[in-house]
Amino acid sequence: MSIRRLVSVFVFVGVVLGFGVPVSGVGGAVLPQGVISAGVSAMPNELGRVPILEYHQVGPKEERWTRSFENFRGDLEWLYNNDYRAVSIGDFAEQRISLPYGKKPVVLTFDDGGYTQLNFKNGKIDPYTAVGVMDEFLKKYPDFGPSAVFYLNNAPFKLVDDKAKAIEYLFSTGRQIGNHTMTHANLAKMSDSNVERELSRLDAYVRSFGFRDVDLSTLSYPFGGVPRGDGMKAMKKYVKLGLLVGADPASVPYSVNYDPYFVPRIQAIDSEWKRWFKREPRATSGSAAVLPFTPFVSDGNPDIITILSETGLKKTNVRKGVQVVVNGSLIKKTSSVRASVEDDRTLQISLEMKKERYPYEDCADPDAAAYIEYKKTGVLGERKVGFFDWSGIVSLPKTFLHFVRTMSRPEVVRGIYFTGSTATSDAGKRLVDKLLASGGNTVVVDINEGDGALNYGKPDHKPILRDIRANIAEWKGKGIYVVARIVAFKERVVSRARPDLAIRNVNGGVWRDNRGSVWLDPSNPQTVQYVIDMAKEASAMGVDEVQFDYVRFPTEGNLGAARFMFDASKKQKWEVIRDFLKEARTQLIPLGVPLGADIFGIVGWQPAPNYRTTGQRIECIAPYLDVIYPMGYPSHFGPGFGGHANPADEPYYFTWRTAQYFVDYAAGTGAAIRPWLQSFMYRVTIPYNSSYISEQIRGAFGAGSQGFVLWNAGNTYDVGWAVIGR
Ligand SMILES: [Zn+2]
Repeated sequence: MSIRRLVSVFVFVGVVLGFGVPVSGVGGAVLPQGVISAGVSAMPNELGRVPILEYHQVGPKEERWTRSFENFRGDLEWLYNNDYRAVSIGDFAEQRISLPYGKKPVVLTFDDGGYTQLNFKNGKIDPYTAVGVMDEFLKKYPDFGPSAVFYLNNAPFKLVDDKAKAIEYLFSTGRQIGNHTMTHANLAKMSDSNVERELSRLDAYVRSFGFRDVDLSTLSYPFGGVPRGDGMKAMKKYVKLGLLVGADPASVPYSVNYDPYFVPRIQAIDSEWKRWFKREPRATSGSAAVLPFTPFVSDGNPDIITILSETGLKKTNVRKGVQVVVNGSLIKKTSSVRASVEDDRTLQISLEMKKERYPYEDCADPDAAAYIEYKKTGVLGERKVGFFDWSGIVSLPKTFLHFVRTMSRPEVVRGIYFTGSTATSDAGKRLVDKLLASGGNTVVVDINEGDGALNYGKPDHKPILRDIRANIAEWKGKGIYVVARIVAFKERVVSRARPDLAIRNVNGGVWRDNRGSVWLDPSNPQTVQYVIDMAKEASAMGVDEVQFDYVRFPTEGNLGAARFMFDASKKQKWEVIRDFLKEARTQLIPLGVPLGADIFGIVGWQPAPNYRTTGQRIECIAPYLDVIYPMGYPSHFGPGFGGHANPADEPYYFTWRTAQYFVDYAAGTGAAIRPWLQSFMYRVTIPYNSSYISEQIRGAFGAGSQGFVLWNAGNTYDVGWAVIGR
């Protein structure tokens, strides 16, 4: 599989963090005033069911196959007053339901195409037809939406002269037509060739009126007759969805209960209105009763699917590029969200229910706890990734707090690390060729150096050491996934010009660690913006992902003399780092570039003492990251650590255990774990060869990691080539 393909299947998975508020107890009470209409009482639930109403004729008098004009008008009003809005059968089938927050989809279908559905009088639509009633209704309630689908056969609306005009009118007013077979045939009793003929001839018939590209790919089975065996096979060549005659609200296409060829409908007759909607005959408004089904309720964003935990979702199929948002109480019990691509159209998401622990409660950010506003920007971008800005039109209550983020690609990253000088050298070219020949697919490259110098030019930054822009373009041309590594807070260059951005010494001047390095102050908003700007510039250079290293406080040196901008009596270091990543995430979302961070391996093994000094608290930063890169190099655990004489000689165990801790702490956040692997000999006394690398790879995957990157400071990967692609 080429990398180009890898990039094209990039998907998003969002998660929602709840803060211990049970869903059932929320109601509408916490909704911000004035944002959501008073009529909305239901919480978003996009795994709920969609009523597909089945009409036949409409006429002056209510009869078995005829809905009276008066009742039909009443149906529309009742639907409108109960927050239903019309969606097309195509949008239903393609998972494109796009409604405002709190609104519920309904699909209106009309079978058999009689003249009571559509007719002309003095050249205009006859008001005493289904379309006439709907046109009148839409004048008053345009936001109900015009969609309605008419299932036709070879006598559209039983019209003599105006067949083409009728179909033209439907298309021009936002309605659809569908296949009801050429001769209103019972397909259940037909051979494959007859099924084929019934479906294809209608297509040809409609084209004969001069219509091109008419979508007849949805079918209403005449008499409810579903073809069998070979007939079914023949049918699937022509249609993607088949509607039954009864007798349920339909499950959505990404539900496990969905079968596209057995999509149920509800007949629009009084007894069924009563049964499914608790609606009294003639009632045109509100029903407070508990319904016998859970309706689909929109979250207001067509690119997100919001799912309630009580639906018991385990497995689902979602259109590529759609984001799945899982409610907080599900995350409580969910240890991982995995995604794999099934084919070009669908992405399979499975949620594994393992765990009751809910790690985020003490990470809760009081500002975010109220609600987050978001809206769709409308642009999906080159890589088909959706994104959001955080100010906008829709507000959601806190049980639906959305941290929408990229999910790591379902495919595996197999990468190596490049310094800026390797990147721009001939050696770098040879390494890239070697990487591709060996089955690797990713380069992590320094876009700034450990001393703060940038490896790219910009107007206010000269002289330039080197510019890796051309190299990035070249790699991408070869299909390589390019990750920009950014040293975040350790540096020397910037603080010379801007000492105010650095951590200060209580005795004056900038603070230095015991190696003489200067660190930028992560709690200084200007510093934060400086670092985020580097990430934005990297994104503009076309990298596929941004990765922060040294995203932490210094740990060595006279820490007592360090002075920060934040008030240490009110805030902890891990809150500062969390807030930094949250800000970075917020600013990077509109650019559609995923965000990763390099994290000390030890904070997985011994969290509390270490996150207090480094600020790296996995479960609190994971919600803002797409990828976490644990630095769990075996050699970085000293001799005797955990009773192991020389951890550097146990490449499998230390890689596996470290990754396992990270997988556990990040569970349910959607952040992928992708460890750095030790590709250097430090402290290694066993043979340092390809099996030293492959043992780490085995450990990484054994713990549930989604890929790995080899680290060698001098970019020498000779022992890795044999195993990097396996
Ligand atoms: Zn029919």
